Amino acid sequence: MTVDRCACLPGIALAALLTLNAGAQQASSTPPLHAKAARRLVVHNAMIIYGNAKPPYGPMDIAVQDGLITDIAPSASTAALGARGSADAIIDATGKYVMPGIVNAHMHWHEERQAGIAQPIQYERNLYLAAGVTTAREVGGDFDKSKRWQADSNAHAIVAPRILVYPFVSKGRTGSPAEIRAWIRDIKRRGADGLKIIGMDRDQLEAIMDEAHTLGLRTATHIAVEETTAEDYIELGVNSIEHFYGVADAALSGVQQFPPEMNYSNEIHRFGRAGELYAQVDPEKLHKVIDRMVERKVAWDPTFSIYEASRDLTRAQNQPWFRDYLHPSLEEYFRGSLDNHGSYFFGWTSTQEARWKQQYRIWMDAVREFATKGGLVTTGDDAGYIYSMYGFGISRELELHEEAGFQPLEVIEHATWNGARLIGMEDRLGKVREGFIADLLVVKGNPLDNLKLLNPYGTDVMLLNGAPASNYSAIGLNDNVQNGRGGGIEWTIKDGIPYHVPTLMNEVKEIVSRARAQRIRTTAGQ
Ligand SMILES: [Zn+2]
Repeated sequence: MTVDRCACLPGIALAALLTLNAGAQQASSTPPLHAKAARRLVVHNAMIIYGNAKPPYGPMDIAVQDGLITDIAPSASTAALGARGSADAIIDATGKYVMPGIVNAHMHWHEERQAGIAQPIQYERNLYLAAGVTTAREVGGDFDKSKRWQADSNAHAIVAPRILVYPFVSKGRTGSPAEIRAWIRDIKRRGADGLKIIGMDRDQLEAIMDEAHTLGLRTATHIAVEETTAEDYIELGVNSIEHFYGVADAALSGVQQFPPEMNYSNEIHRFGRAGELYAQVDPEKLHKVIDRMVERKVAWDPTFSIYEASRDLTRAQNQPWFRDYLHPSLEEYFRGSLDNHGSYFFGWTSTQEARWKQQYRIWMDAVREFATKGGLVTTGDDAGYIYSMYGFGISRELELHEEAGFQPLEVIEHATWNGARLIGMEDRLGKVREGFIADLLVVKGNPLDNLKLLNPYGTDVMLLNGAPASNYSAIGLNDNVQNGRGGGIEWTIKDGIPYHVPTLMNEVKEIVSRARAQRIRTTAGQ
């Protein structure tokens, strides 16, 4: 596909493209502040979205010293004037909104997707920072590598979000309770921040949860269709339920109705039938499961965005950012293949999509009910599978929380303050607050007006006589109305260090074009 596109471009179009690229690069050349720690940084003239769901306020100046927010003062005040005077660096946020960095509560680091095609880790790091993710909770990955990257990120030796490492409980499925306990004690000694649990029998789960509580380790679970359902995890005190499984399974009358030929190892069966799950729940039972989750303080991290291809495959396969930012390793991985987890689209039918759409309606209502009753809802993207790209996945996740019935202000709370509470960092993260860690996003526009403004690709904005305007503006006879590109995060600040998002995205583009060129050479040489 890539080869065709490059080879078919006529000379003139190619020349035009080069000119355009040169222009774009000039327009977004790397500012000297990018990726440099300033001792005293001031973000000037910002409208602040605090992190919990209180309304925005401003314009304010946010002073940052040694990675922490030290002062927040009205931009016109003498205090702010003084802070600007003694600053080493100033970011002008006039006309922009500043919100806390996003906690991606469910992600995985990947250095390869399609076997044999390397994917440089910086690709994923840049995409997440560009999407505003300043904290990444990895729920299952290469433990030793992720611990190294965590240390490097904490020391600011790499350009990456802050990392929390929750390894998969190894021996969970196969070990005796004693072996499971020994493994957990060992991984805690080696620095695990929490545990990721996938589908368990009850005796194994009891051992895991008991040991985790003894050691003070947090737990996240992907329940799957198992002996244990949300009922067991709630009772045994898990911290968060990921995805949708388990909750609905606990609300069925009996078990899910599967046809006799059902094979759970076959992902076409597995994901096809998963889309029928919520339609089979007993609504009364579901209310009760939700009540117990709230009562026992079990958080819900739904990861709506990762299953979206199941309800609209054509949309998932044709996202505009694939053109410049889809790495060939991911591109290959996404194609239908029974060898790749989540690449289950073979002859996907209108009926399967319709059922998944129904599933989303019931699932989203359940998440909304859970939050209304006081439950903690967070955001995670689980990207790198099922046509979901790192970073773009989390920004889509926020849109889907709005679709579930939450106001944008609540959605931002899910992504920031709730995330901080989930990972136990609510004393220093998730709010634009004095004394808190300076994880801040400078957004070009107001994300409460349109969450798509947080997408690293930016979004369409209406231009009325050349200036961005609400598309509900009155339009007169002589007015000129056009579509323009706008939005995107301008700066992602982590631990007080500003990262220039257009620069990060240019680097991603370069990584992708190098990998594509490499692939063309490799293919030509065969
Ligand atoms: Zn995952």
